Amino acid sequence: SPDTPLLCVRDLHVSYGPVEAVGGISLDVPRGAIVSVIGPNGAGKSTLLNALMGLLPSKGQATLDGRDVAAMPVEDRLRRGLCLVSEKRELFAEMSVADNLALGAYSRRHEPKGAVEADLEAGYQRFPRLKERRHQTAGTLSGGERQMLAIARALMARPQLLMLDEPSLGLAPLIVAEVLETVSELRRSGVSILIVEQNARAVLRIADYGYVLEQGRIAMEGDAATLLADERLIQTYLGFG
Ligand code: ATP
Repeated sequence: SPDTPLLCVRDLHVSYGPVEAVGGISLDVPRGAIVSVIGPNGAGKSTLLNALMGLLPSKGQATLDGRDVAAMPVEDRLRRGLCLVSEKRELFAEMSVADNLALGAYSRRHEPKGAVEADLEAGYQRFPRLKERRHQTAGTLSGGERQMLAIARALMARPQLLMLDEPSLGLAPLIVAEVLETVSELRRSGVSILIVEQNARAVLRIADYGYVLEQGRIAMEGDAATLLADERLIQTYLGFG
């Protein structure tokens, strides 16, 4: 139903051997929303996203569009509309921008070619700098351009829910603003977003709702504007930004 959140996570646990990194997290991503997960180094933010993508084994419930995805392999989650842009961005440095984008549509390889080509053109329209550089190898792009390419490549999978792990990592403040503005615009094309950031202030400015993660648990949650207005919270948990 259109009223149930796109993503529902209930009591998710993720362990590395004997060490529990995520200790029972419940969260929702409503349709069309930008939801942020903020918190200090080592809080379990990357672990959470990797588990939701199916890259790490987890316990607990996760439904996408009402469908249980908790036990699905990565490839099936991709086909159901989950997509993760990892912290490392994982581009193919020796390959061109165009070929990196084409690989983003790998999970759609059985679809008619025209649909994928139309999305490639739409991607170039959204990211004109990538179009200009489409024959350039990904490894020669600037940090900001690489992040844009990682996002554009993820969009080629036609995600319903795009998960972004620290898209601002290693970028200059001006470029951070540009990347987050891009994320904010994605919502208009109907993509819902779950975004992990250490840069709390910046991400709460574009988010609807935020969860504060601390030592693998939700320490606090609320509307982004409410969290943003809580000076003490920003100072205590989140330091910079
Ligand atoms: P950061 O912002 O520094 O990336 P994070 O909030 O994303 O932090 P995680 O990377 O999810 O945190 O790490 C959560 C906890 O799990 C940390 O204590 C970390 O040391 C531990 N951890 C992460 N990856 C592994 C691994 N492969 N093996 C063992 N422990 C791990």
